[in-house]
Amino acid sequence: MALPGEEWRRCAARCRAALGPALRERLEAAPLGEALRLGCGLLRTGGEEAAALQRLCRRASTGKEPAAARWYRQEGNRRFGRGCYGDAALLYSQAASHELPGSPEVSLCFANRSAALFHLGHFEVCLEDISRAQSHGYPDRLLPKVLLRKVECLLCLGRVQDAADALAAVENKITVDGIMTGPEHQTLLKKLNQLKLKVRERESCPEPAREACGDAQRESEIWEENDSISGASSSLSLKFNAEKGRHLVASQDILPGQNLLKEEAFVSVLCPEEGESRLLQNSSEMVWDARVTNADLYCHRCLKQLLASVPCRGCSYAKYCSQNCADTAWEQYHRTECSLGGLLLMLGVFCHVALRTVLLAGFSEVSRLVEQSHDDDEDLRNTKARCKHPSEAPDTRTGTRAIPGCNDNGQYQSSYQAVFNLLPHAEKHSPEHKFLCMLSVVAICRKLQEAGLEAAVLNRESSEKGSGPKACEKTSDELSPELQIMAEAMLRHVLQLQCNAQAITVMQELGSGDGAVVNRKPVRLATAFFPVLSLLNHSCSPNISVSFSGTAATVRASQPISSGQEIFHCYGPHRCRMKVAERQQLLSQYFFECRCQACLEELESDNKSVVSMRNSFCCPSCQASMQGEDVLCCSNEACARSVSRESLSRHLRDLQRQIKQALELLRDSKADEAIKMLLKCQMDARNFLSPEHLLMGEMEDHLAQVYATLGKWQEAARHLEKSIQIVETHHGPSSVEMGHELFKLAQILFNGFAVSEALSTIQRAEKILTVHCGPQSTQIRELQEMKTCLLELPRSILQRT
Ligand SMILES: [Zn+2]
Ligand SMILES: [Zn+2]
Ligand SMILES: [Zn+2]
Ligand SMILES: [Zn+2]
Repeated sequence: MALPGEEWRRCAARCRAALGPALRERLEAAPLGEALRLGCGLLRTGGEEAAALQRLCRRASTGKEPAAARWYRQEGNRRFGRGCYGDAALLYSQAASHELPGSPEVSLCFANRSAALFHLGHFEVCLEDISRAQSHGYPDRLLPKVLLRKVECLLCLGRVQDAADALAAVENKITVDGIMTGPEHQTLLKKLNQLKLKVRERESCPEPAREACGDAQRESEIWEENDSISGASSSLSLKFNAEKGRHLVASQDILPGQNLLKEEAFVSVLCPEEGESRLLQNSSEMVWDARVTNADLYCHRCLKQLLASVPCRGCSYAKYCSQNCADTAWEQYHRTECSLGGLLLMLGVFCHVALRTVLLAGFSEVSRLVEQSHDDDEDLRNTKARCKHPSEAPDTRTGTRAIPGCNDNGQYQSSYQAVFNLLPHAEKHSPEHKFLCMLSVVAICRKLQEAGLEAAVLNRESSEKGSGPKACEKTSDELSPELQIMAEAMLRHVLQLQCNAQAITVMQELGSGDGAVVNRKPVRLATAFFPVLSLLNHSCSPNISVSFSGTAATVRASQPISSGQEIFHCYGPHRCRMKVAERQQLLSQYFFECRCQACLEELESDNKSVVSMRNSFCCPSCQASMQGEDVLCCSNEACARSVSRESLSRHLRDLQRQIKQALELLRDSKADEAIKMLLKCQMDARNFLSPEHLLMGEMEDHLAQVYATLGKWQEAARHLEKSIQIVETHHGPSSVEMGHELFKLAQILFNGFAVSEALSTIQRAEKILTVHCGPQSTQIRELQEMKTCLLELPRSILQRT
């Protein structure tokens, strides 16, 4: 959810409707700062809107609730007892996020989680959790058990000397303290003696030194950075003209797979609800929300995948990969955002990005640029008024100096200045939308004032607040001049995001977790500003591919680009996925009409686009293709059957629902039933969908997945090959989608020991994925490991296949 939630939108619309016509007109015509000043009075404390806002925020609570913590921990223990260690670890994390830092309860959560992680084989992280438990005051009498786990972990990691030391420490503790008695003590002693034996065994036959870490061996790619655009390759140059605005052009011939841009997001905010949203429990007696979202799976700051999250000290929402990330986030922005949690969730991720952007930039930089923009507006008005020669207007000057967002040396950098200069298109947004954004920004500022966070926002020491006379002037409806500046910048950013928000996506691993075949699905993780990446214009048929690692984006050429050609990014509507009319509709939100090659061709030829041909319905009687708008007729004249589009669409929705049910069966480990259901869906689909319909491919893909979980590799491969054919017709033979499908096939063939087929599939997948994701991506490394493994297989096995 990028924009504010439905209820707040309705509330804002009501508020706007109640305005007098004069005020509404003034608001529509006003520049951003002026609009905010006018809008401030609308969220008066005690007013109807303010009350509604408070109600909405309370629903999305992000505070710490000890009762929730207890429930999560007990539920975690139940899962642990049943051997569901992954679920248990997640529930212990939830529990920890609701406990107060430094309390014995939170240390119990960490200790319990360390046990789950141990069973999952995550020994390093398990050790981290054990020391976390200790530093949060884990009860002394329970310590020996946890310390023995530490010994086991160290042994598993091959750190024999450390294990011996740790063991000696536990032994000492048990004998000196002598706290425990009874059967528990006996079990512990037994365990201790077992471990002693193990340690001695390992000490007598030392293992060969472990190989150096693979990271060091990875060769770095050839890379020459551009002098005037930070993070860009020297084979690009920045151009500017009235028609295209700023854009990037190849200054030399570029090969597929060549690295064109590496950029760290200026700011990024995790999108909480777009993840897997898997429910850990379906029971009706569930008291607390057991949904797992992105916010539980990825670090709030660096977007690294979480195994053992470090909870924020103040809220139950923000979770981090390490104490370091937690501390840095707190310093940079979270101390301001922490108590605003519910409000920010309700207002949506665009507002959140806008707030974090100004917090990261800092008050002095924000006010410098806001004031400069006022001066520029003034200049522009004066120039236009005074001078009759349009050539002297600033936007027609040539040379890099005139390109907006560049610094005084003509360099374009990933900086706040560059973010500030992205186009807000203030005059193109609808008045309703602008009003909603304005009211949302006012809501944030009001909340900041209420929570006494104004000083933090303005990067002032909070002590200043008490000493100065400013503390007691919170009487009027107006914002302070400083907060007004921050608000103006925030409003600008919310409007900019409509056209400039870049989604950070990852291939999320799904499925049963047995690890045989990794099924990956692209998931939107976060919304971000990438000022350099934003220089790229859109095409429905782009010539690059973007991949993400944490908060960093890498852009590679996906096809040969010759010198002088423009570099194009696809903002979403790709020619392979949508018809030209749909694309144009979607692109209108970016305020432009796409004139890319693909759109021109489709518009001119007046032909049905390839997409609609492939994703079409077919005749229920004779399977010929169906044509028409509201009523579809069979293209076979002899048949002449006609069906309403409405009834075919209903049929399609039914089918999709049944496929979903089949996948739920698979999740509940009812593979045989899932297969039956999918085969039935396939039969049904053949009666009204064209054989190349994407859904036909999806069903084959699901079948492959079910057979893989049963270890029936040949069947799995057969179904996946059919899915691959359909993916190829839709996305093309060298598309990234094709790469992911081939990767899956390689895993299945690998598991089924189909050596020569596996090797050739690995080669195909490698070739495609190297272009899109680069030679150092996880998937490429996994493919190479599979290859090495296959080539090292003894001849006897090779000959059997
Ligand atoms: Zn992190
Ligand atoms: Zn927090
Ligand atoms: Zn287009
Ligand atoms: Zn027919």
